[in-house]
Amino acid sequence: MSERNGTAADAAGAGADTPAESTGSRWLRLRYASRVIALFWELSPKSVCAILGLTLLTGLLPALQIKLTQASVQAVVDAIGHDWDGPATRYVVVLGSVLAVLAALMHFLGTWEQYARMILQLQFMYKINERIMAKATRLDLEHYENADNYDVLQRANQEGSTRPYQIFQGLLDVGQNVVQLVSVAGLLFSWNVWVGLLILASPIPSILASVVYGRRGYQVERDRTAKRRMMHYLQQLTTTDRAFKEVRLFNLGGEFVSRYQALTREFYDTDRTLARKQAFAAFPLGLLSVLVSSGALLFALLSTTSAATVGRLAAYTQAINVVQSSAHSVLFGIGELYRNILFVGNIFEYLDLPESRIKGGSRPFPSPIREGIEFRDVTFVYPGTEKVVLDGLSCFIPAGRCAAVVGHNGAGKTTLVKLLARLYEPTSGEIYLDGVPLRDYDLADLRDNIGVIFQDFMQYEMPAAENIGFGKIARLADGQRIRRAAEESGADPFLAKLPQGYDTPLGRMFEGGHQLSIGQWQKVALARAFMRKAPLVVLDEPTASIDAEAEAEVFGRLGEIASGATAILIAHRFSTVRMADDILVLEGGRLIEHGSHRELMEADGTYARLFTLQASGYLDPEEVPDGTP
Ligand code: ADP
Repeated sequence: MSERNGTAADAAGAGADTPAESTGSRWLRLRYASRVIALFWELSPKSVCAILGLTLLTGLLPALQIKLTQASVQAVVDAIGHDWDGPATRYVVVLGSVLAVLAALMHFLGTWEQYARMILQLQFMYKINERIMAKATRLDLEHYENADNYDVLQRANQEGSTRPYQIFQGLLDVGQNVVQLVSVAGLLFSWNVWVGLLILASPIPSILASVVYGRRGYQVERDRTAKRRMMHYLQQLTTTDRAFKEVRLFNLGGEFVSRYQALTREFYDTDRTLARKQAFAAFPLGLLSVLVSSGALLFALLSTTSAATVGRLAAYTQAINVVQSSAHSVLFGIGELYRNILFVGNIFEYLDLPESRIKGGSRPFPSPIREGIEFRDVTFVYPGTEKVVLDGLSCFIPAGRCAAVVGHNGAGKTTLVKLLARLYEPTSGEIYLDGVPLRDYDLADLRDNIGVIFQDFMQYEMPAAENIGFGKIARLADGQRIRRAAEESGADPFLAKLPQGYDTPLGRMFEGGHQLSIGQWQKVALARAFMRKAPLVVLDEPTASIDAEAEAEVFGRLGEIASGATAILIAHRFSTVRMADDILVLEGGRLIEHGSHRELMEADGTYARLFTLQASGYLDPEEVPDGTP
């Protein structure tokens, strides 16, 4: 998703600010922790149970180790002065061996646990990326063309596979350290309740500080989404082949790099300030916990008054260290966990986006179309904007005919196609197909029966045959049909000559790829539309980069190629437009003229004026019709 080459949406939202999140909704995000666990559980309940068991066990073993240390040290003290081969010494050897076995067991369990976690992480990474991709295929075009929605997509992509796993890992680590902390602190409690309580409570202020800073860090990052998108866009502009020529020739590289630097410097300054504040707050609070444990240690030393309690001293010293370090890990872990949970919300926010609001009916698409397509008083405003793009548009396109739509850039021609393909819904008014509202037709069937190529058509960096076959995915392996579509669009002569013919990968992204000229790519895209053999063919400036002769050839035979289909054509060359049965002239989202070439020439209006201008060479066909009438 994020790899789209410099789209309008990339730039559109780049300057927008992300609204600040309320404290309430930030806390609400905490519920995402349970969703993360559910995700892992769904993936492999067995692995989750095994990891949980191992984590719990490795958390309990240090307490056992301390107890054994206490017994061994005391046994050594007790054995001093006894025979080296007597029972006291043998007891020391037995305890020492048990300690060694325990250490080996801990190492074994630790390695097993790491392995199990790694495997689960790999499984998870692929699964969540799959979900993100699958979700993207179920969203509306609106999500991609609107800056705010695009930010949500961007944030989800950014968090990707790593954040949920960090949470899972964080939960396990915190859990393990809590088990360790509680079991070892239990030893301290049995010695002195107050010392135990103090040691346990001392990290709490630091935990709170870490939570507060985690939240600030999250808000800073969230506020940056649009700027991060701009950074990503600048990176793309300087590192992708598509932008290379312009960037190099207009000497834009330096400018883009310095804009990128300005953003990174701004980020760095903010991050450094936050990190410094956090360090200043963390130091005294951390010191508090160091002082408490040092005091406890001193207390343990002073209360060891006889040889009979030396073993206990060894145990307390170790216990204080373990409690101190696990309290630190819990503290750090909770702060990190909180931060990660806030961030993981970005993925769920994305996964929860409402899916295709555009719903279809149950009616099958008429094949062939019998009456035609009617736009009745259709008005359209893009969501989140105010400009009326189509303004009460009414027209009728009879079945089996070819209608050409002409108009200035921005007149609403592409929007009309988007509405027809039901990528958007009209704001008001209705589109009818054979007298039935478009929304009554089954959506998948409708899309399956429209062969549409947009002016910003795709160039799939995949074999030529697939580039065409994607027009009818069910017939991807039908070489004959693919070849026929290529012949119809004029792509066959150059595709057949490629090193591996139709199996040659197109583009230069992958090894063995062969780059085509833009006009050749356009012929391939046209073949993709013809591959579909749809009853409704919509071509949005499909031949802008094809030479006039080839264009005339394709459109001269469009009736034969599309064999009885209804065709809607948006074209710039009036030599092509004149071949259409009907011509619709759009201006400012309104239909200002409608008729055949002859009728419109006789009417001597906008169409006639533009046609004459182009015919006399005053108007470049590639630019037409753009200007003020
Ligand atoms: P044409 O195909 O005739 O050149 P379009 O249908 O692409 O024109 O655009 C018509 C108008 O709608 C333009 O003013 C354009 O700025 C606006 N527009 C196009 N796409 C979007 C969008 N995704 N969001 C908001 N406005 C848009």
